[in-house]
Amino acid sequence: MPSVFIKTYGCQMNERDSEAVAAQLLAKGYSLAPSESVADVVLLNTCSVRDLAEQKAINKMRNLVGTARSEKRDQIVGFLGCMAQSRGRELIDRLPDVDLVLGTQKFHRAAEYLDELLSGKREKIVDVAPEAKSEAAIREHLLNGSARTSVSAFVSIMQGCNQHCTFCIVPATRGEERSRTIPDVVAECRELAERGVKEITLLGQIVTSFGRSEKREAWQAAQMLGNQAFPVLPDGGADLPLNPLPAASPPAPTRPSSPFVQLLDAVHAIAGLERIRFTSPHPKGYGDDLVDAYARLPKLCESAHLPLQSGSDRILKLMHRGYTREKFLGIIRKLRRARPGIGITTDIIVGFPGETEEDFAQTLSLCREAEFDNAYIFKYSPRRDTPAADMPDQVPTPIREERNHRLLELVNDIAARKYDAFVGRQVQILVEGPSRKNAARCTGRTRCNKIVLFDGGDRHRGQLMDVKIERTGSFTLYGDPAVVNL
Ligand code: SF4
Repeated sequence: MPSVFIKTYGCQMNERDSEAVAAQLLAKGYSLAPSESVADVVLLNTCSVRDLAEQKAINKMRNLVGTARSEKRDQIVGFLGCMAQSRGRELIDRLPDVDLVLGTQKFHRAAEYLDELLSGKREKIVDVAPEAKSEAAIREHLLNGSARTSVSAFVSIMQGCNQHCTFCIVPATRGEERSRTIPDVVAECRELAERGVKEITLLGQIVTSFGRSEKREAWQAAQMLGNQAFPVLPDGGADLPLNPLPAASPPAPTRPSSPFVQLLDAVHAIAGLERIRFTSPHPKGYGDDLVDAYARLPKLCESAHLPLQSGSDRILKLMHRGYTREKFLGIIRKLRRARPGIGITTDIIVGFPGETEEDFAQTLSLCREAEFDNAYIFKYSPRRDTPAADMPDQVPTPIREERNHRLLELVNDIAARKYDAFVGRQVQILVEGPSRKNAARCTGRTRCNKIVLFDGGDRHRGQLMDVKIERTGSFTLYGDPAVVNL
């Protein structure tokens, strides 16, 4: 059977999609090639969020086909994912040696299409059409020894986004929001727990919108599961039965819970699972029910990623983000009240069109106030077919770079202080396995999502253990388990 090599660009969703494609191909008898140069099939799972990511994938493909041709090797090559979706056939027009272009709703068709290409039945395949229920097709896992995957796993719960932030290409590449059902997600999580997975990260473009487009289904599914922690109607569920519970049931709480919080409750009930995380949420999704979930669900790790994007209300409005800086800071205050010590990270864009020095100063001041544990900073990159690309007052590149540099300095200073505060403290980590860079060391993660390195070996993999933090490095803690785990 042929061997396949998959190279992934971009976010955790893409990593997860690649994993599911690889698992699907393994199940059909393919093997995973150790490198692209010896593979019969090479797939590039692409990202469109920034122009640079697209250029990288196109250049990579050029090199691949050039090398294969010069070495007279027959190799099937294809693009998957976001750039495949947004550019479609144009990619084959531009690079005629490309055999396969597979959009974001078609990952589950990879094996079928590769069979057709390898057998010579078809010469080129481009499929970027929408497909109903494709959100439920990303479910196979590779739990075969990669340090992180055997202990913790990502579970895709929904795809697409209806938010239409003016800078973002995701609604065009991933389509409208589509969520899996709660029983379907729970079944996958339960199976992972039975296979030894201790930590699950629920994954989606905008996870806090889970089930919003399928309220009735999510609601009914939650009832089927007996999840009555919040037996009241989800927001906006006016068309649902007003009293779905039998008369003998306990009185209904007055606060509604979103389908996403219902899902958290259902996953939390799975025996054997120790930790739950999720990414990426939208700040608008942090209602009181989600803040309460942090306070009442012990398996939900005290870690939250809240994409800020800008600290200026004027820019937030231009971005179509749907919250203000005060609202954002209010969420952080509530989360810290619910879970003191919670690790909070964010994403920020600098140099959005029209961003003045005053707007940027607002972002700096919000960062000082919020004291993020880490921030992923992006220089604004115009994306075609997004409203922001045509906005006036595009910020010149040198200014974007200078603001990026200043913000990075501030964020790193704050983060270093927060990391230093861990020295001398005892923390619980989940050990993912030997470190990729140094096999004599193990990598673990604290509940607040900080990486901890310690001297250890494969025997520690999968253990929940306490370590004492002795020193810090760049966004890393160094611990000694011997001090607390004799
Ligand atoms: S919420 Fe996130 S994925 Fe959706 S449009 Fe905005 S930035 Fe893009």
